[in-house]
Formats: sequence, structure tokens, C-alpha cells
Amino acid sequence: MEKILIIDDSLVQADVLKSILKDNYDVTAVHTAEAGLQHAASGMYSLILLDVIMPEMDGFTLLKELQEAALTRRIPVILITSLSDVEHEVQGLIMGAVDYITKPFNPMIVAARVNTHVKLHRYQAQIEREAMIDELTGIANRRYYEKYCELKWNDAVRLKIPISICMFDIDHFKLYNDTYGHPAGDRVIATVADKIAARLRRTTDFVARYGGEEFVAIILGGDAGEAFGYLKKVREEIEMQHIRHTPPTCDWVTVSIGGVTVTPQRGDTYETYLKLADTMLYDAKRLGRNQVVWCGEHMEQMKEN
Ligand code: GH3
Ligand code: MG
Ligand code: MG
Repeated sequence: MEKILIIDDSLVQADVLKSILKDNYDVTAVHTAEAGLQHAASGMYSLILLDVIMPEMDGFTLLKELQEAALTRRIPVILITSLSDVEHEVQGLIMGAVDYITKPFNPMIVAARVNTHVKLHRYQAQIEREAMIDELTGIANRRYYEKYCELKWNDAVRLKIPISICMFDIDHFKLYNDTYGHPAGDRVIATVADKIAARLRRTTDFVARYGGEEFVAIILGGDAGEAFGYLKKVREEIEMQHIRHTPPTCDWVTVSIGGVTVTPQRGDTYETYLKLADTMLYDAKRLGRNQVVWCGEHMEQMKEN
């Protein structure tokens, strides 16, 4: 059941609203602006019903605060106004409330407006999710990655901790498609993504489909040796799936991996190190594929053989 928050200083009014909505929603009512902010910040609500006139903090000030906080910005707010209150309605809508309902309440209208906005909110959340997720593999897509990488880079700069950037590329994949067909190729991409994501699933890890048969991972914390050792395991695990393939290098589907670990200093750029990771990947290909090549903090290269 979706959760709705009522913020209204009048207990009677809140009770009326609650009784209209309680069969279809999980409704919580609070009676002060402060409690409203606290509840809203839990991020669990699909909609807020907000009384415009309250003591201490009025509904507009509260609306502004809700819109300024990242955690609550996306929750739709319906204002509760009285019939004579046209000015308030206009102000509320300009400030970003999605709708208003007037007192005395008409239960049908209240229910209809609430249903509409809960549904819209659900669609919007779904669209945002889908815009960030790669359909074939279910992991983050390139767009999500582009937003994410700079944030993580800035975290590493601020916290003065190492960050590892890692590129994966499936070996001789064109040949795989040519031999087994594109749909089978798609299944391989999904399986490889699965294996990578299953291994890199700490909250400080991030994996995305970079494009085609290429993936990118960002790992916060840990030194180059750890990252290198860990990615070697990931590479081995993919090889051990024994997905039949007929390339010149191996009987199975394999990946080449290139990466770099750096504790970034101010002035360093993410792009520079991404390029370095790509150079390491190129070296892994050149050296025979199905291997990890890594660049350590002192620009020393680590190889498997
Ligand atoms: P290398 O070992 O040097 O990486 O060789 P490769 O054949 O993997 O490299 P190349 O970049 O020449 O080919 C990549 C192939 O990946 C070509 C393309 O058809 C295939 N590919 C890219 N995206 C998809 C996809 O979404 N599905 C499938 N099935 N194939 C894809
Ligand atoms: Mg490629
Ligand atoms: Mg490839």
C-alpha cells in the first residue's frame, strides 16, 4: 500500500481526510510542520496533503522547505485550502504544489485527486528508474554512469582516498555474434554483466554498461594491489562459466580488463585516469586478452603474467 502523509494542525480535519483515504492507502497524520518535515524526510511517502494555514510554520514555508531538500523534492504536495482562498491556491501552485483540495471536503474529489497524483508520481519514478538502467543487463546505463562518475571522483578528492576505475571488454565478441548469432550474443552480455555486478556489490562499488560489450566499474577505497587481485578473480569467474566460444585465444568467452587506482589530488581530472584505464585495457588485449592489466599509484604496471 502506498503511503500518504497528512500535515494538518486540525485533528478533526486530518481525521476526515484519513477516513476518506484509509481503505486504499497507508495514511499517517501529523499536526505540526516540524513533525511533517521529519516524516517526509523518511522518503517513504508517495504524496503529502498539506494544510496551508497552520500555527508556527505556515504551509507555504513548509512547502518551500520540502522543495529545497533533495529527499523530499520529488514528493507531490496537494494543498488543503478553504473555498474562499483563491489567492492561496494560486501562490501554492506557483510554488510547486501539484494540486489543491478545498474545504469542506467532497470525499469523491479528494479520492480522485489523490489517486491521480499518486499514479503520476509512480509513473514518473518508473520513468526515471528506466532512464538510468540498461534494459538488457539490468545494471546502470551509460547515462547513469556519466552522472555518477564525477560525484564519486569528487568524493575521493574530498576524502583523500583511493579510487579505482576499471574497464571491461568481452574478447573477440564480433566473432561470437558471427558464429552464434546476435540474440545469443545478447545473453552473453547479460551473463557477463551479472557476474561483474555480483562481485562488485559493496555500497562503494559501481558497475555500468559503458556500451556494446564494454563495462565500467568504479571502486572507492582499497589499494591498487587489492583492486588488481579482486578483478583477476572476476575475470577468472567469467572464464569459468565455460560459455563456449571459438576464438583463437581460448575455448570460452573471456574478458580483458584494464584499470587504474589513484588517490586523486586537486587538479587531477577523472578523464585523465579513465583514459589511463582504457590504455591498460588496450595493453591487456595486445598481450593476448583474457587478462587484467592495472596501473598502480606510482604509475607502475601490474600484469598477470
Ligand atoms: P576484441 O577482443 O578486440 O574486443 O574484439 P571484439 O570483436 O570484441 O571487438 P569489436 O569492438 O570489433 O566488436 C565488438 C562487437 O560487439 C561488435 C558488435 O557487433 C558487438 N556488440 C555490441 N553491442 C552488442 C549488443 O548489444 N548485442 C550483441 N549481441 N552484440 C553487440
Ligand atoms: Mg569493444
Ligand atoms: Mg570486445
